[in-house]
Amino acid sequence: MSFSELHKELVDRAAQGLLRARRTLTTPQSPHIIVDGTPYLAFCSNDYLGLANHPELISALQNGAQEWGVGAGAAHLVSGHFEPHHQLEQQLAAFVDKPAALLFSTGYMANLGVVQALVGKGDTVFADKLNHASLNDAMLLSRAEVKRYRHGDMAQLEKLLSETSKGRKLVITDAVFSMDGDLAPLREMLALCERYDAWLYVDDAHGFGVLGEQGRGSLSHFGIASERIIYMATLGKAAGVSGAFVAAEQVVIDTLVNHANSYVYTTASPAALSVALSQSLQLIEQGNELRVHLKLLIAKLRNGLADLPWSLMPSDTAIQPVLIGDNQRALELSAGLRERGIWVAAIRPPTVPQGTARLRITLSAAHSEGDVDSLIGALHELAQEL
Ligand SMILES: *Cc1c(COP(=O)(O)O)cnc(C)c1O
Repeated sequence: MSFSELHKELVDRAAQGLLRARRTLTTPQSPHIIVDGTPYLAFCSNDYLGLANHPELISALQNGAQEWGVGAGAAHLVSGHFEPHHQLEQQLAAFVDKPAALLFSTGYMANLGVVQALVGKGDTVFADKLNHASLNDAMLLSRAEVKRYRHGDMAQLEKLLSETSKGRKLVITDAVFSMDGDLAPLREMLALCERYDAWLYVDDAHGFGVLGEQGRGSLSHFGIASERIIYMATLGKAAGVSGAFVAAEQVVIDTLVNHANSYVYTTASPAALSVALSQSLQLIEQGNELRVHLKLLIAKLRNGLADLPWSLMPSDTAIQPVLIGDNQRALELSAGLRERGIWVAAIRPPTVPQGTARLRITLSAAHSEGDVDSLIGALHELAQEL
């Protein structure tokens, strides 16, 4: 058996402009990074509040390592569950106004674990077609029946819910769609879940820390609360560290502790990370100025790009995609920006549907107005050239 088949697959992928490769940063995450030796003004991290390299988080992590060491050494259910984990869970639950919370090592693992623990054969998962890949993988792993509805189409969701009578029903959705930046209509979704007795699983990877009062996330943004909402947010994006948590009724959390394989069968994340995350939670809570500045940058960018030949997708969040369509054209634009010292990721299928390749611009409170002006200027130059 040789590797020629694998080689051919990669060559085919490259021919379609779909080959992926990594670039290496030699600076911490920030709007100004050095990549493979070249400095860039970057608009592609999810570090929405600019906390990833914040001095208070660095010293919290250092203190955490001094006090708790580096490795957790065991899974949470064995001897890997430490006081900082426990305290952080309580702080997170209170922050999002839920009775209990559970830490996971990553958002990807949280999604796999929650869906697999709550539904199985004989149950049904209802999912938006543009949900994050981790939610899609989670529903396949769960072995529940899967019913997908068109993006944001509440009439279709209602129809699918009304046609399902047996088993548990779980509606799963991104709160802020990761490649589009728009919001799920959570209020309407909750109303449908009440009418058809379904649970609502909300993945707030891009809303936590950014949306809602004091950054409490999408539930606060929409002013909704319900026992039937199971909330998940990641801690490596706006929170600037790593990991994820699920917040829900105590019985749901107890079920996850017992049945979520990606919680049970993995080594706990280092307790020092939880020390840093408790500090991050305080910065998020006190971060209204950061969120106001981020909003201003979003408005400035949208105004500045309104007359481009490519359309800005409808979004009020820090995720501002410019829809290009063709894969090669999106790569050309991304390369043109790079020549001008600006780094914006070109997002192509299968991450997004065929024919919807885009430049995914993400803004951070760490950007200045001048940074946004530079990006607007460069995109206008490219629009003239190409
Ligand atoms: C990033 C992301 C995840 C995965 O979170 P990680 O902590 O990076 O594994 C899950 N869902 C959505 C919508 C995301 O954007």
